[in-house]
Amino acid sequence: LVMLGIETSCDDTAAAVVRSDGQILSQVISSQADLLVKYGGVAPKMAEEAHALAIDGVVQQALDNAKLTEENLSAVAVTIGPGLSLCLRVGVQKARRIAGKFRLPIVGVHHMEAHALVARLVNKKVQFPFLALLISGGHNLLILAHSLGHYVQLGTTIDDAIGEAYDKTARWLGLDMRRGGGPALEELALEGDPTSVKFSVPMRQHKDCNFSYAGLKTQVRLAIESQNLPTENVPISSASSDDRRSRADLAASFQRVAVLHLEERCQRAMEWALKIEPSIKYLVVSGGVASNSFVRARLNDVAGRNGLELVCPPPRLCTDNGVMIAWTGIEHYLMGRFDPPPPPNEPENFQYDLRPRWPLGEEYSEGRSVAR
Ligand code: ATP
Ligand code: FE
Repeated sequence: LVMLGIETSCDDTAAAVVRSDGQILSQVISSQADLLVKYGGVAPKMAEEAHALAIDGVVQQALDNAKLTEENLSAVAVTIGPGLSLCLRVGVQKARRIAGKFRLPIVGVHHMEAHALVARLVNKKVQFPFLALLISGGHNLLILAHSLGHYVQLGTTIDDAIGEAYDKTARWLGLDMRRGGGPALEELALEGDPTSVKFSVPMRQHKDCNFSYAGLKTQVRLAIESQNLPTENVPISSASSDDRRSRADLAASFQRVAVLHLEERCQRAMEWALKIEPSIKYLVVSGGVASNSFVRARLNDVAGRNGLELVCPPPRLCTDNGVMIAWTGIEHYLMGRFDPPPPPNEPENFQYDLRPRWPLGEEYSEGRSVAR
């Protein structure tokens, strides 16, 4: 089985060709880093245009690198949500054009499910059921994966995701946003003292598995203001060594508390999950923020203390990519879950099945289930 995967849910245009034995034949990403730096975030209309400009080339490159043509494909997988509908549309339209023209089945993929399932491509030992922490710019999920397509949401964020907090903090500290705020902040934090600025850990009084990062963002903002750091408008590259030191301290202190919050929620999620499914052996951590070494090291400890093994995909499979979409397409296809080839030449204004908001599974709360 040879699957083409297409991903356009956010700011990266990605495509990959993956075989059902787990062999990655190609992976191509065109990122909108320049736009992100310029507009300070994803502007849907701009992002849509960038996807539309990139999509044909990215898909062609993925096929070329795999030394294949459309005729060699078994099916096409594409992200249909969650994400920005204008952006999702570009990928879905491309996928359906190819599938229609070459009579290929099509699999609509959930972006967050793909972040989780790519761990099974990386490590074949990861069987269901498993626990997953999915951490990125837009999502902060704790998921109990019972079986393919059957997920229970143990926790989510009540406001911002951790990646958003990394990005904002990085911007306020005047870091180079071209590679994304996360990697730049992680690097600077290595120079700082993580205990120098006292931030409080979010949501300690809530004994559940939900997250909150808006308050921590505010704490960072206030700390920057109270120290009178000339940050945002003075790039770190032109900061004095004292100034650089203060920024590094803030970065390290932010990172410590941001990750402590993850650790505490994971600890509780493991307790919940092991009660529901005592056979769980793996904690999967994926999504862009899972490429962070500090995050990996801390969560490795938490998993180990609970008798679980941590599985983190390599960084380029943690951030948005086409491989995870192709792989998730393969998993569903093998279970018979796919759509027949669309008719060739669908009209331009066709109403695609796009799911901008699409929960991955039912919500679970221990308090509630005990009360019943
Ligand atoms: P979604 O939320 O829909 O999954 P996304 O657009 O957030 O998608 P991802 O590529 O999954 O895309 O995650 C990007 C996020 O990961 C950004 O917020 C980025 O700052 C963060 N990130 C990437 N690398 C690191 C790192 N080394 N440390 C911390 N955060 C990182
Ligand atoms: Fe993502």
